[in-house]
Amino acid sequence: MKFAFNFFCFLKENKFNLLDIIFPPSCIICGKLNKNYICTKCEKRFEKFKKFNIIDNKKYIKDKFNIKCENFKQNYYIVGDEKYYWEKLLYCFDYKSIVRKYILKYKFNDEAYLSNFFANQILNNKKTYEILKTYDIIIPVPMEKGKKLKRGYNQTELITKIIEKNVEITELKVVEKIKKTNTQSLLSQEMRKLNVENAFCIKNENLVKNKNVIIFDDIYTTGATVNEISKLLKNAKVNKILVLVIAKD
Ligand SMILES: [Zn+2]
Repeated sequence: MKFAFNFFCFLKENKFNLLDIIFPPSCIICGKLNKNYICTKCEKRFEKFKKFNIIDNKKYIKDKFNIKCENFKQNYYIVGDEKYYWEKLLYCFDYKSIVRKYILKYKFNDEAYLSNFFANQILNNKKTYEILKTYDIIIPVPMEKGKKLKRGYNQTELITKIIEKNVEITELKVVEKIKKTNTQSLLSQEMRKLNVENAFCIKNENLVKNKNVIIFDDIYTTGATVNEISKLLKNAKVNKILVLVIAKD
């Protein structure tokens, strides 16, 4: 009895919960018990891809199109007939090598436990944590209902839930996917834009009005999806938008 109680206190002190006892946190690569979901030795394999870089949309456009964008007018930057609605992009890793391998595993191989690892990586970076704290709401990029039922989880929601628990920020699933789309990674840049056009809607605009919002997605490639969602949010009078992704291509 005393042993059980001491053991329970030990778990509590070390911030383990019931789920941790049934599925003890362990390194995603070698499987050794580790509450950060990665051991020091295996973490070295991710080290050189770590960025935790925040970029302003103005700089993003300059690098992408080699043109200087002037002031943020009417809630967007305009380049030709393209409009860019978000203010900042924060990416944690380069989408390469082992990072790519584990994100794909997480997305397509039913390996939901990887959400703990990725969320921990985001939250353990002090600079990122401080930035996230300055926002009001975090919105996961939604999935079609049928697709979610088939997979059993939406990989972005699992991570925003953990972020909500650890940062004083509210997770809101106000964006809904209303159109079936093709897999973005198989399409050209122009097709990606058309693919996500009118694919989303906002369920309750009042909940986001005047708020500082984070949109969370796993990978940033051309940014078509998050830009489309940003457009809806800006139309709903959101104050400013940070796009947070695990990795940028
Ligand atoms: Zn390991």
